[in-house]
Amino acid sequence: MNCCNDKSVSSLYDGSKLCRNHFIEYFETKVFKTIRQFELIGREENLGIALSGGKDSLTALHILCRFSKQNPKIKINAIAIDEGIAGYRDKTLKKAKEFCGNNNIKLHIFSYKEEFGLTLDEMLKILNVKPCSICGIFRRYLLNKKSRELKFTKLATGHNLDDECQSILMNQLRNNVEASARLGPKAGIFNNERFVQRIKPLYLCTEKEATTYAFLNGLLDTFSECPNARQSFRAQVRDMLNDMEKKFPGTKYSIVNSFLKILPLLKEKYKNGILKICAKCNEPSANDICNACVYLERLNYRELETNRH
Ligand code: SF4
Ligand code: ZN
Repeated sequence: MNCCNDKSVSSLYDGSKLCRNHFIEYFETKVFKTIRQFELIGREENLGIALSGGKDSLTALHILCRFSKQNPKIKINAIAIDEGIAGYRDKTLKKAKEFCGNNNIKLHIFSYKEEFGLTLDEMLKILNVKPCSICGIFRRYLLNKKSRELKFTKLATGHNLDDECQSILMNQLRNNVEASARLGPKAGIFNNERFVQRIKPLYLCTEKEATTYAFLNGLLDTFSECPNARQSFRAQVRDMLNDMEKKFPGTKYSIVNSFLKILPLLKEKYKNGILKICAKCNEPSANDICNACVYLERLNYRELETNRH
């Protein structure tokens, strides 16, 4: 991209530098192109955007609001999950409420405490598990269930190129190729009315680009990270990828681009995966009882045990 190079704010992975205005133009063009290329959004949609109040989801919401202004039949709503992580989620939710209030966007908030009876912090005191594994299961569960109940036609998330790269590699390292079939710019399980399709408009934007865009648009003034994030497997993979990217610029693009070439084959291979309905909650599940219900049972059992002694 040609740039006037007036006070450059961002260097791209290929070494080119862009000023503020040209960077914003570059970023938005890339997102709109991604939406068209992968047919993420139809002519008429009741879109939900999963909003955490962090830089990626605020960027996705900001840019989709701009998109909906040019396409009046696209309705925009935000949905946030309050896991109950003291000192962290309260701050990001404040940011989410502020943004939605200022931009006239309906924000639906659901919490673990109200839906499951316990905050994530409380769950982690009862069960000795990795925070992100249990947190991710409950968040995906609630996002899908509530998006369906709210009649969202699709659920957009702020996942960027770095997130996708990490997920691809994590699935490889865990020998879980089937999970990779559910990745991609259009993610999740298709052709099942109980699943709301997830879309990732920032799919081809790096984390650095999304952060730059968020700061340049005043969406964020500080950077905060979940206190549990460092314990995760994802954090290890992220550090490894960042190290590789530093040594070999373009690594992340290469991983995602080569993944996109094999993704149609993976989707075809796993398209008939057996999907059941959880016997406890009636939500879709790979097993007779879904993972969320399995954890809830364990939590209730442990709590009863603790109260008894
Ligand atoms: Fe949940 Fe882990 Fe994300 Fe924190 S980093 S919000 S614990 S998934
Ligand atoms: Zn269930």
